[in-house]
Amino acid sequence: MHRLIERLYPICRSVAGEGVRQTLDILGEMIPLERYEVPSGTPVLDWTVPREWNIRDAYVADAAGRRVIDFRALNLHVVSHSVPVRARMSLDELRPRLHTLPEFPDRVPHRTSYFSEDWGFCLRHRDLEALEPGEYEVVIDSTLEDGSLTYAECVIPGERRDEVLLSTHICHPSLCNDNLSGIALATFLARHLLDRPNQLSYRLLLIPGTIGSITWLARNGDKLEHIRGGLVLSTAGDAGPLHYKRTRSGASEIDRAVIHSLVHSGKPYDVRDFEPYGYDERQYSSPGFGLEVGSLTRTPYGRFDEYHSSADDLDFVQPASLADTLAQHIAALEILDGDGTYRNLCPFGEPQLGRHGLYAALGGRKGDRSAEVAVLWVLNFSDGDHSLLEIADRAGLPFAAIRKAADALLDVGLIERIA
Ligand code: ZN
Repeated sequence: MHRLIERLYPICRSVAGEGVRQTLDILGEMIPLERYEVPSGTPVLDWTVPREWNIRDAYVADAAGRRVIDFRALNLHVVSHSVPVRARMSLDELRPRLHTLPEFPDRVPHRTSYFSEDWGFCLRHRDLEALEPGEYEVVIDSTLEDGSLTYAECVIPGERRDEVLLSTHICHPSLCNDNLSGIALATFLARHLLDRPNQLSYRLLLIPGTIGSITWLARNGDKLEHIRGGLVLSTAGDAGPLHYKRTRSGASEIDRAVIHSLVHSGKPYDVRDFEPYGYDERQYSSPGFGLEVGSLTRTPYGRFDEYHSSADDLDFVQPASLADTLAQHIAALEILDGDGTYRNLCPFGEPQLGRHGLYAALGGRKGDRSAEVAVLWVLNFSDGDHSLLEIADRAGLPFAAIRKAADALLDVGLIERIA
C-alpha cells in the first residue's frame, strides 16, 4: 500500500483533469475499473460539473531568474485550479496571492479554488519572509477548459444483489493521509474482495470529493435501492488509533458490524456520531438519499495538524498503520457479509446436541464449552427476529464463533436461513 502511495504521490490531481486519469490508469493495473467521463457544464443535482484543470509548470522567479516558488519541486505550491497567469509584479502586488501557514512556518499549505476564477501560490512561511522586495516574474502555465470530470467504479458481484458502497476521493495532489491512503486502502480492499466468494455485492467508487459523489448520485438513482450501507475510505495511514464515524442513523448494520469488529479487535479505538461535515458521507447521507454510510479511519478529517499541508507526506503514512486499517476493514466486511437471520427448526426445548453429532462437529478442547455456548445462543435467538450479529453482540462473543455455530447447526438441519 505504501509503495502504491509513493507511485501516486507526484501526480498533480484535482477534481477534473489529467491527474485523475493518470491515477486511474495506475489503479487500473491492479483492479478492474469502469471509467466514466461527465462533460463540464453538466448539471448534477444543485451543482454543475466544473471545467477541467491541467497544469504543466508554474513558478515565481526573482530578478536573477531564480525560482523562489517552483511547482516542479512540489505541486502544492500552486493553488489548485489556478487560472493561467504570465505577469511581472512587485512583491507587494504578489503578496495577497501568497498563502502560508504562519503557525507551521516550514510547511506548504494546500489551497484550492475549484468554483471561482482565481490563482495563487502556496509556500513555507519561512520562505515568504525571506523574499526580497522587488519585481518578480509570475507564471502559471495551466489550462482551465471545458472537458470532463472522470470517475471510476469497481463492481464486485456477490451471491446477492444487495450492495455495500465503498467510496474514496481521488482529487488531492501530493497529500498522503488525505487522501492517497484512502485510495490505497480502496484498491487493496477491492483486491481482497475480488479474491474470495462474497454473499453481498460491493461497489467501489473512485471519485473526486464532493462534486464526484454528487455527480455519481445524480446519475445512479436506480442503484440506490440495492445499497445496504457503505463506508467512506480516507485517512488510513497515520499512527493514530482507529476511529469510526457512525452513519446518519447510527444504528444500521454497517455501524453494528464495524463496531463489533472494533470491540473484538483488542486494540484502542474511538467511535463518534455522525455530523454533516467531513467527506462524501455527507452527500450519500443527505436526507433525499439517506444512505447509511459511515467512515472507519485513523485520525479523522481535519484533526491532525499535518492535514492539507506538505507535512502530510510519505513519512506521515506508515505501512503498519495502512495494513492495520486494511485488516480492520476486512474484518468488518466479513461480518457484514457473513451475517444472516435464521430460524430454529427444533424450538421446543433444546435439541439433544450429542444426538445430532454436534459435539464432534464443534470439536474444541476438553473442558472448553465456548463452542457449545455459541450453539445455544444461536438456537435460542434464531427466532427470525435476530441476526447472527445481533446474537453475537448480545452474547458478547466474537461474530466468528456465532457464525461457526450457525454453520454447524445448518449442516445438521437444526436451523434454516430466512431470506
Ligand atoms: Zn482533503
